[in-house]
Amino acid sequence: MVTLLLVGLIGTAVAAGYQKQATLDYTGIKITLDGKEITPTDANGAAVEPFAISGTTYLPVRAVANAFGLEVGWDQDTSTVTLDTPQIKKPTYITRTGSKYHNDPTCNGGTYWEVPYSTAVGMGLEPCDKCVH
Ligand SMILES: [Zn+2]
Repeated sequence: MVTLLLVGLIGTAVAAGYQKQATLDYTGIKITLDGKEITPTDANGAAVEPFAISGTTYLPVRAVANAFGLEVGWDQDTSTVTLDTPQIKKPTYITRTGSKYHNDPTCNGGTYWEVPYSTAVGMGLEPCDKCVH
């Protein structure tokens, strides 16, 4: 994760047209969620220590987002960290006759019923191109 963060600090800065040098302050910063400590690690499981720059604390986004149950991605083309709720946890809507399932209960202006994601998939429905990401 430190790699992704450094890409964010250095690689993205290049893409945005500038570079900046900074002093990283490592002061033993800890992260807790509901009082339980999160130990950030990189993709290989090695510990990654949070740091601060000029009083702003930088946390490894993957560790924090995963603690919230989010999926983390990186879009190289747009230099965007993407955080997504796993599909299985999103509300899933279906119509009586549709071949797709939706996350937006107002998609296409139809009348939708909320069902468990597993039900929609079990019915053989495909994700809606418009509202399922
Ligand atoms: Zn839809």
